[in-house]
This record gives sequence, C-alpha cells and structure tokens, in this order.
Amino acid sequence: MSAPQRITVLGATGSIGLSTLDVIARHPERYQVFALSGFSRLAELQALCLLHRPDYAVVPDTSAAHELQSSLRGAGLATEVLVGEEGLCAVAAAAEVDCVMAAIVGAAGLKPTLAAVRAGKKVLLANKEALVMSGALFMQAVRESGATLLPIDSEHNAIFQCLPGDYARGLQPVGVRRILLTASGGPFRETPLAELERVTPEQACAHPNWSMGRKISVDSASMMNKGLELIEACWLFDARPEQVEVVIHRQSVIHSLVDYVDGSVLAQLGNPDMRTPIAHALAWPERIDSGVAPLDLFAVGRLDFERPDAQRFPCLRLAREAAQAGGSAPAMLNALNEVAVEAFLQRRIRFSDIARMIEAVLNAQSVQAVEALDAVFEVDRRARALAAEWLARR
Ligand code: NAD
Ligand code: MG
Repeated sequence: MSAPQRITVLGATGSIGLSTLDVIARHPERYQVFALSGFSRLAELQALCLLHRPDYAVVPDTSAAHELQSSLRGAGLATEVLVGEEGLCAVAAAAEVDCVMAAIVGAAGLKPTLAAVRAGKKVLLANKEALVMSGALFMQAVRESGATLLPIDSEHNAIFQCLPGDYARGLQPVGVRRILLTASGGPFRETPLAELERVTPEQACAHPNWSMGRKISVDSASMMNKGLELIEACWLFDARPEQVEVVIHRQSVIHSLVDYVDGSVLAQLGNPDMRTPIAHALAWPERIDSGVAPLDLFAVGRLDFERPDAQRFPCLRLAREAAQAGGSAPAMLNALNEVAVEAFLQRRIRFSDIARMIEAVLNAQSVQAVEALDAVFEVDRRARALAAEWLARR
C-alpha cells in the first residue's frame, strides 16, 4: 500500500468541505489532511482541526489566527495557522500536497484554485465561479502545468463519467453531439410567477433535493446555478454553448447525460449526495465507498423531464448570452450575480431583482477581451462597483 495522499481542503467549513472530510475520514489509509481553511465559522474550523490534525489551517485575519493558534497549541496540536489569500495559495501549492479540494465559494476561490493548478496538483474543482470568471486562462494553466482537473459539480462529474477517458481532446473527436445538463428546477419550479417578487431568502435556500451553502442555493432557485454550470461545461469539455442543453429533471437522480452521434445517450445516476462525486474524484480512476446509500430505483419510481421556462428563469438566458459573448461577459455576469445574491440574502432587493440588476448592468457594458488574470480581476471590480451603483439608485 502506498503512502496516504495529502489533501488540502479549501473551504473546509462549508457544505462541500464537510462532505469531503466525511469521505476522507472513511479512508484513513488512503488520505491524510494536509491543510484546512475557514472564513467565518472559526469555531467549526477549530473542531475540524482537532478531528483531522492538519499540518496547516488558514483563516482570514491575524486576530483569528492568534486565537486559533493558541487554542490548537493548548490542545497539543502542531498545526500551523496561516492567514488570508497568501496562506490559501501557500497550502494549495505546497510541495507536500497531492490533491486540493477547491471548495471556497465565489470569486474569492479563484487565486488559491489557480495556485493549485499552476503547481500541477490534482485539483478537485467545486468552485465553479473560478472557471466562469477566467475559463480560458484557467484551462491554459491546466494544460501548461499538467495539473489533473476533476469536476466535483455533480453534473460535470456525471458528464466526466459518461465521456471516454480521453475527453480532454474535446468533444468532437469522440463523437459527442450534445451534453444534457440536468437541473432540479429548485424550490420555485412551480411557484406562480407573480409570487416570485415576494419569496424570501429562507424559501430560496430550502432546496427540495440538495443541501448546500446559501449562495449556491439562491443560484439554484434562480437557475443562475445552471447558467454558471453551462459556462463551466463549455470550458471543462471544450463544448460550444449550443451543444449544452438544460433539462429540468425534478428527482435529481440523473446527474447529467451525454448524447453521442450514433444515438447512444449515457447518463450517470445516483442519490443526490455530493459525497458520490467527491469520492469519485478523490479515488479516480479507482472507486471507493462514499457513505452514500445505494440508489433504490423502486423508491424513485419515475424520472420526469421538462424544458426550463424562459420567463421564470431569466438568469439561464443571461448566462447563455454571456457564454456566447465570451471575453469579459462571464466574469461580469458572475460578479453581478454574487453582489445581487448577497443583497437578496440581506433583504435589500427582491428575488426577481437579481436577474433585473444583472441584465440592466450587463446590457449597458460592452464586451472586452480578457487576456490576463489582472484583466479578469479588473472586470470583477468594475462589475461590483456598477452593481453597487445600481443598488444605491433603488
Ligand atoms: P458554503 O457556503 O457552504 O461554503 C463556502 C466555504 O468557503 C466555507 O468554508 C467558507 O468559509 C469559505 N469562504 C467563503 N467566503 C470566503 C472568502 N472570501 N475567502 C475564503 N474562504 C471563503 O458553500 P458550498 O455549498 O460548500 O459551495 C462551495 C463551492 O462549491 C461553491 O463554488 C459552489 O458553487 C460549489 N458547489 C457546491 C455544491 C453543494 O452541493 N454545496 C455543489 C456543486 C458545486
Ligand atoms: Mg451542480
């Protein structure tokens, strides 16, 4: 048996981070935690450190670092506490690390995830926003460094499993016609349209099938999540936006499908539990137990499919348009969405204002080429400033 793989979990205190640690803890002979990061839930981070005894922990500021450092020392741990983005990039790229779970939410995850990619690590990508913001540069960095990029998003992990092993050459050579990206439709799939003006953050975060962080839960309710995933799929699998079709499948049992030119359609099925794609990517190309119950098709009974309603889910159209426009458009869309979702969670705007704000600001901007990471962050900053202006005018 070879030595255990050393893993850094960026965003350890979140929903994906905790599911990752759950899978890791089932296989102590295979995996060892090298570093954990947290941002706001620092008591939870401390508890995770006591349990997993990492070499490093990363927190957002020095006062949090002092506090965590002294409590871990008091408990007899040798864990070293690092600070901020620099600390995140260090534990993502450290020579001792074999594998990095990129599970920070939003644009904040881009630099540490890229640091892992540039260091040639095996990168388990949950942080879809990183790829949406800087897809071309990100994929170029993967090619240059020889990093192994494995998708954690359940749909992309499903597609990955349904593609031949040499998918990295692009979809065309392997005879793929389309990618069918499944979506649950979220909590508002059947809510009367007029009521969408009045829905609350609690309702938006009560997803029928998946338990997730608040930002992605709101994205699922607006279907911006599926829009971001469409862009993510284009980069991961070298597909054109027209090759990706979104299918509402409310049971969330089929996690996505690949349609081949000979008429074959391959799907990956399973219970909606993120530990399956996490375990798949951790062990790839082997298979390990994830703790997820076997799929009971008799209990599922039926699988339904429907077309998304364009009027109900304008964010899906906005994301598709941004994917087609390319350049600065996806990064702009992503940043506007992050600000809008936060404003909705703080009850400053209504649910329907999320799409309204994104469309108004996006349409007033021209699309620019983004050839370097600085340009991506410049677009991100500009979008956030424009979003703040829009919110202030309300
Ligand atoms: P979450 O909100 O539960 O956790 C987010 C993590 O990021 C936490 O550990 C938090 O401390 C950290 N974080 C937040 N802001 C930060 C900042 N500014 N700097 C550093 N760290 C910060 O979110 P989640 O549901 O676990 O999602 C994480 C990522 O995975 C997202 O990009 C999401 O789109 C993606 N994803 C999640 C799921 C899911 O089922 N939860 C499924 C597919 C993809
Ligand atoms: Mg997903």
